[in-house]
Amino acid sequence: MGMRIEGRIRCRPAVGLRLGRTIVCRWLLVLALGAGLASADAVSPASSAEGWRAGVARAVITPQTGVWLAGYGSKRAPDGKLHDLWMKALALEDNAGHRVVLITSDFQGVPKAMSDQVFARIKQKYGIERRQVMFTFSHNHCGPRLGNDLVDYYPVEAAQVALVEAYTARMVTRCVSMVGEALSRLSPATLRIGQGETTFAVNRRNNRESEVPELLARGTPLKGPVDHSVPVMTVTHPDGKLAAVLFGYACHPTTLSFRTWCGDYPGFAQLALEQNHPGAVAMFVNTCGGDQNPLPRRSVELCRRYGQMLATAVEEVLADEERPLRPVTNGLSTAFEYTELPYLEVVSREKLLGLLEDSNAIRARWAARMLRRLQGGQAFAKTYPYPVHAWRLGREMLMIGMGAESVVDYALRFKREFGPGTWVCGYSDDMIAYIPSRRVWEEGGYEGGSYLYEYGRPAFRWSGDIEDQIAASVRRLVKQVRP
Ligand SMILES: [Zn+2]
Repeated sequence: MGMRIEGRIRCRPAVGLRLGRTIVCRWLLVLALGAGLASADAVSPASSAEGWRAGVARAVITPQTGVWLAGYGSKRAPDGKLHDLWMKALALEDNAGHRVVLITSDFQGVPKAMSDQVFARIKQKYGIERRQVMFTFSHNHCGPRLGNDLVDYYPVEAAQVALVEAYTARMVTRCVSMVGEALSRLSPATLRIGQGETTFAVNRRNNRESEVPELLARGTPLKGPVDHSVPVMTVTHPDGKLAAVLFGYACHPTTLSFRTWCGDYPGFAQLALEQNHPGAVAMFVNTCGGDQNPLPRRSVELCRRYGQMLATAVEEVLADEERPLRPVTNGLSTAFEYTELPYLEVVSREKLLGLLEDSNAIRARWAARMLRRLQGGQAFAKTYPYPVHAWRLGREMLMIGMGAESVVDYALRFKREFGPGTWVCGYSDDMIAYIPSRRVWEEGGYEGGSYLYEYGRPAFRWSGDIEDQIAASVRRLVKQVRP
């Protein structure tokens, strides 16, 4: 989620922003892409990249009721839309019949209570197991509230609770039917991967937001770890036509904080790609942008520009003749587990009683709710079941899926550990909280310190060894899929 905003901040675009190396002409691009496909297929007609089947589906998720916009802890009743919000599903099947379904969405935070319903119904209806499905969300702060995500974070209004519950139930049903549509459309396809770059993500822990425009204008390097890579995967039909393009970026969709439905920068990027490639579905995953912000921000103009920068980075990968997209060989292997992430200390009844009148309204609401749970006889768990995925696609691609708001250190670490073709998708399956690395935990502050109560967890901090716990889980799973 985003740090709460005191008042409205307006930023003019910085002079030094890069728009990408080239603006690619759509028709030249289509020609280049078509030629690239034809030559690749001609060189290796019996390529082991053959045998994939893919199916794509999508659904509009823009609320039709007064569900508030999510992510800043304030009442944000919608006042209209810039464009529709979407969820999308990509089903893949290898030549041995192994299947996966990747769901991407313009949601801000999908809670476990919601995604668990989707996973259960998908298993019941289509026989797709938990390890075969990943439910990602872009963390779009101009998307709707869902279920019991961040319940203590927002002011309480009974009518709003009912609207959010009804909307969430509709989304569960629609998501399950969308997955069914993607599976029903499985047909021969080729998968290819590549990687581009764009630079608008800024490490928000290490750079003061108000200073970023001037630093960029002066060409002063910004501080702190970032991951500016843009991983790209294409799904093409046998006739060479693009069916889907999946791409990622590590950055919070927090350019905007107004009350108008839109997908923030990933929404604009997906729209641009779908306009460039009629008939194709563009899908975005947030690759561990827990501590990254699009800066400067707070104007639709900047949001549109960042979306265009990301779309341009993808287009450059599609059109790159020197480094053409690499085909993904056939073969799919999946592993999944919950790893129990320990809290540093579970909150006590005494501590909660002392917070009932706290000047921080979120903390006071949280303390009251936690006390009601204790009074209802519920004990607090000492750990949280953290979802971790590893999917191997051929010899070329490894997708790691991690729950919640993982900071960029995780993406950098796992890409280093597992090599080229590794995607590290944060914001998978469950919103939970921020997931600091050891470094960020030691530093403390917004993403690393005593903030877990904001997410409704029964504690203030994670245990300091959560990076080790998560890394051990990822290694176990990767070993299973990459023997
Ligand atoms: Zn966030």
